[in-house]
Amino acid sequence: MEPGVFKIGPIRPPSEANSLLLRVTENCPWNKCKFCMLYKKNDFHTRPVAEVKKDIDAMAEYRDRILTHFKDGDYDMEAINQEYQSLATAEERMCYQMVFIWLTEGNRQAIFLQDANTMVLRPEWLAEIVSYVRVRLPEIQRITSYGRANTLAKISQADYKMLHDAGLNRIHSGYESGSDKVLQLICKGTTQEEQIIGGRKVREAGIELSIYFMPGVGGRELSTDNAIETAKVINAVDPNFVRLRTFVLRTGSLMEEVRDAGGWTEGTDMEKLLEIRNMIAHIDPTKAHGKITSDHIINLLQEVNGYMDTEIPWMLDYIDSFLALPELEQRKYQLARRMGFPLDWKQLYRLRESDRLYIEDLAKNLVDEKAWEKKLHAYMDRYI
Ligand code: SF4
Repeated sequence: MEPGVFKIGPIRPPSEANSLLLRVTENCPWNKCKFCMLYKKNDFHTRPVAEVKKDIDAMAEYRDRILTHFKDGDYDMEAINQEYQSLATAEERMCYQMVFIWLTEGNRQAIFLQDANTMVLRPEWLAEIVSYVRVRLPEIQRITSYGRANTLAKISQADYKMLHDAGLNRIHSGYESGSDKVLQLICKGTTQEEQIIGGRKVREAGIELSIYFMPGVGGRELSTDNAIETAKVINAVDPNFVRLRTFVLRTGSLMEEVRDAGGWTEGTDMEKLLEIRNMIAHIDPTKAHGKITSDHIINLLQEVNGYMDTEIPWMLDYIDSFLALPELEQRKYQLARRMGFPLDWKQLYRLRESDRLYIEDLAKNLVDEKAWEKKLHAYMDRYI
């Protein structure tokens, strides 16, 4: 029997780039955050458990078919190509390819449950799906999902235990800010209190919690509030991961309305870095033990990574050493980074000479602050 096709959603967290993707719900049940343009044109709906289980079956069947071509430590690519070409539809070929990439280049032990807030599903349905993953794809060791803080706060401790026992390991949650003022401004539909309640429940159930912080989203006006109140939430929840996602105002997003209404000004690239520093400086290492990660190209300093209980002094020193550079050196690195240079400022010498000359020229001569930020913004637009 031919395997069926399975659905594939649009996004996953960067840390799940190598995971198999299983679409359990479609789109976002909230869909109102002002900075987010992802699902604005699509309605949310859950998928019937039986349908999701069929998708899991299809994944397992593709895996089995592909693995029959694995012999003597290698894949028979001719046989794989033949099989791929013999599939009747483009959808089947896409599913085959996705499972092949997962088997050969991905993390064979990880699966991510799409889309934006799968935790909204009835817990017993979600537990049934998670258990089925464990049965049909026994190589999977890590099952993760997105969950909004507002949803996480409503789930009972007993349901979290059921989900944990079924095999749900990690929840990613876009907290974005711990400040109620900022949360309200960006229409996040949640509060600091819900973030703390939800986060603590997840942690208490033994499920890992990965939260996202968006430095800059409160604008210049709420920068200090954003930093301090976010640190307060981190201290109260003790998440396993705090992932940095520097905010950049996206053309066409509803944040433009917030800006145009007045009282919100986008900070500069360097001001957002200072906000990250301020947030880190307010984390209490006796209360927070997880890891800060800068796992997105949108962050200026990619090297700001470390455990909150032991590496905060290092992270602050690292940021301070960048801030202590002569302005021209800072600008050179900023531009290089925004052009996609992935390393830290000590490695600028590795740039191609043509890039280096271009960067030096702009960093020296583009002195108008607005024009400079606009230039950086134009590069960053590619990443958001
Ligand atoms: S909850 Fe997530 S996906 Fe939904 S609108 Fe907000 S940021 Fe976008």
